[in-house]
Amino acid sequence: MSVTSDTVGRFAPSPSGYTHLGNLASYLLAWLDVRSVGGSIILRIEDLDLNRCSESFAEQIADDLKFLGLDWDNELRPEFHQSRRTSMYEDIFRQLMKHDMLYPCYCSRSQRLAASAPHPGEYSHDTGCRCKYLSYYERLQLEKAGKTPAWKIRVPDKEIVFTDGHYGAVRQNLADDGDFIVRRSDGVFAYQLAVSFDDMAMGVNRVVRGRDLLNSTAKQIWLINELGGIPPEYCHAPLLISESGKKLSKRDGDLSIKQLRKSYSAEEIIGFLAKQLNIGDCKPTGVQELLNRFDWSLIPKNDIILK
Ligand code: GLU
Repeated sequence: MSVTSDTVGRFAPSPSGYTHLGNLASYLLAWLDVRSVGGSIILRIEDLDLNRCSESFAEQIADDLKFLGLDWDNELRPEFHQSRRTSMYEDIFRQLMKHDMLYPCYCSRSQRLAASAPHPGEYSHDTGCRCKYLSYYERLQLEKAGKTPAWKIRVPDKEIVFTDGHYGAVRQNLADDGDFIVRRSDGVFAYQLAVSFDDMAMGVNRVVRGRDLLNSTAKQIWLINELGGIPPEYCHAPLLISESGKKLSKRDGDLSIKQLRKSYSAEEIIGFLAKQLNIGDCKPTGVQELLNRFDWSLIPKNDIILK
């Protein structure tokens, strides 16, 4: 597929903190990528884990996007919140179960965290889990001992090959990371399942997001294919990192947009970011003006050190 006005992109923030400049860099690129071809954008709130996410963060994120001129095309009705889509995830879960693709995993909490947003790509290694080999009797013993399992999906030994819109050809064997969690032991559906289903169900055909999720992409392509859908095109963006070399995180409160808005105008924030992304010269600018200048070939591939 090539980018046309039928392009449907999305912003998919997890409202577990304030938007920071790093998040904003991927939202800006997602917006430019889609709007430069006259496509539409969905805002979907990825609030699967209600212990970590809050509606007030979601409202703040939407308000920041609006303030910066990054508009989207849906109303923020409940169906655009993942926390309100669990009955659909239940159906998919049942479907996968019926096809014998799932098994219970009784591993420790740290492994279960593998399934949680907002940094889902970072902990995906299926190190040492033997749960798929447990006998019926062993499972029963664990259940009797009060263990509640998470649920994992069996992945085949299969190489997924795709072309990332920014980083080019990517080959990844699903077996390298191994089986992954689709539902946590507390019942919460995992990022990989929800994001794959939602991108498919919402007709998203273009995903622009941070490079930290590149490692999740093969899983999502495979899962969407298994569910009978057509995977979107993926285009990953470099990450913004602090001078100390750390990826910006929601914990870096001082670089939150909420905080920056106290001292800078929307045009100043966008101008600064455009300079970092190599599509501007740091002069205050609106997002509309960047549309003419935007070209993926200008965007750095290496992570960007904020100065
Ligand atoms: N919800 C994720 C985040 O805020 C993004 C997931 C995605 O773009 O696939 O980091």
